[in-house]
Amino acid sequence: MLTAKLIKEKAREYGADLVGIGDIAGFAGCDPRRDPKGILPDASCVIGCGFRVPRALYKTMERGIQFFNYTQLGVKLIDEELSEVFLLKMGALIENEGYDACLQRNVSNLRVKGDHTTNPELCDTYELALAEPVAPGKVAPDIIMDFPQAARICGLADVSCKGNAISPVFGPFVRFVFIVTNLPLKTDPPFSRHLCDHCGECVQACPGHAVSMESGLDTWQCAVYYRGAHKSNPFVNEDFLKEHPDREAILNGARHFDAASARAIYPQIDFLPMRPTKYAPCLCGKRCDVVCYRHLKEKGLL
Ligand code: SF4
Ligand code: SF4
Repeated sequence: MLTAKLIKEKAREYGADLVGIGDIAGFAGCDPRRDPKGILPDASCVIGCGFRVPRALYKTMERGIQFFNYTQLGVKLIDEELSEVFLLKMGALIENEGYDACLQRNVSNLRVKGDHTTNPELCDTYELALAEPVAPGKVAPDIIMDFPQAARICGLADVSCKGNAISPVFGPFVRFVFIVTNLPLKTDPPFSRHLCDHCGECVQACPGHAVSMESGLDTWQCAVYYRGAHKSNPFVNEDFLKEHPDREAILNGARHFDAASARAIYPQIDFLPMRPTKYAPCLCGKRCDVVCYRHLKEKGLL
């Protein structure tokens, strides 16, 4: 008989650093395009699991020593390999007991219909703009859960002012996966503490001015500066954007980018290869998260 205790033990044995179980009722009223009930109508709960991103990956970027490893190891490897093997093992455990396990990895390169944001970590993202519901009353596929909100409902993390998950142990240095299941399990209370105190340090730290306390993260602006279109990128030399009329404004983070202008300039922000994974090397050092982690540590919240 699979109990919450056994599920948590197995999740840790298979590699999760954090595990919590959220009541499906906690998702009531959420955007139908992101509702786990839409994925599994008789779901009883959502199992959330977190994987730490090693701190030293951020430290080596901060020291200007090494940039390529962060996205490859701290993003791609966790989302594409570690998580997938983990989810398949957990799914088998649940399905062997006769229940359904709908495995939810981070669908990094897709956006639900109507979501015009992007994921700065990838070469580009695709909005499911052509998707139509298969029957009246259904939502257009694919349903993509809101991971930071799901982490909160599973009792694992706060959602920061810029929309990312912050956990009590790892701060923003963590990535999540979820399992929507009809296996009846004892659930955990949602995360109710406020770790993000709106200090604004992430706003100040971003070289592209992509974070605002009022409107959160501008993902297209972030995508341009994540790739390194700023003066503090050690790979920038005098040839970068040499003929561009807005060169200075861009390097100073003073130029605003939307989807079209970001995509137009992507080919010129080409400092480290995206091949073969199509994940963008992080040349901003993820400073927003680095200062956030340090701030939370200093406050004794981690
Ligand atoms: S640095 Fe962290 S705690 Fe401070 S406002 Fe940004 S997300 Fe919130
Ligand atoms: S510091 Fe980097 S990851 Fe953070 S918001 Fe700015 S560009 Fe994006």
